[in-house]
Amino acid sequence: MSDTFVLSLQSLGREIGSLQEHSLQIRPIAEWSTEVAQWLDQDFPIRVELQSLTDGVLVSVAGELGWTALCSRCAEEVRGSTPLNAQDVFFYPDSPVVTEAEEDEEFYLIENDSIDLEPFVRDELILGLPTLPLCSPDCEGLCDVCGEPWAKLPEDHAHEEIDPRWSALAVFAEKLDSSEEMNK
Ligand SMILES: [Zn+2]
Ligand SMILES: [Zn+2]
Repeated sequence: MSDTFVLSLQSLGREIGSLQEHSLQIRPIAEWSTEVAQWLDQDFPIRVELQSLTDGVLVSVAGELGWTALCSRCAEEVRGSTPLNAQDVFFYPDSPVVTEAEEDEEFYLIENDSIDLEPFVRDELILGLPTLPLCSPDCEGLCDVCGEPWAKLPEDHAHEEIDPRWSALAVFAEKLDSSEEMNK
């Protein structure tokens, strides 16, 4: 747990309707990233609004977090950002909503008169990374033969087609060439 995600509720108080706004800097946690895309390891500003309710505190967060990934077709770096806009209630552990809940129900809880935004932000961002990142929507990927990105190749780029029956012979010829080199 990182302390930058923890907000004290002491100054908000428990008077219903009491409102507060905070500006925070949060740094995405490495575990939130996937193999396909990674959150940038830097601070991002977010706005947090707190509103005191009978059973807890209504928490709204707003911001935008950046990520980096490799294009799934051509492997060029892609950068993007995902908005973070979420609202949920953090409950007091002694509120009836929590004490009378079914066992498998889960809540964000207020602990030690403070809230930990980390699990909340993580839950919101977990689906915020691309699963098939693209450098551009019409990325043509890589040439099958030489593996160069089509975007960097001339329009008339092509390879001489070698009949598979002849390709073994081509390899043989190459070997012959190199052994001749060695004999020189
Ligand atoms: Zn691409
Ligand atoms: Zn090629």
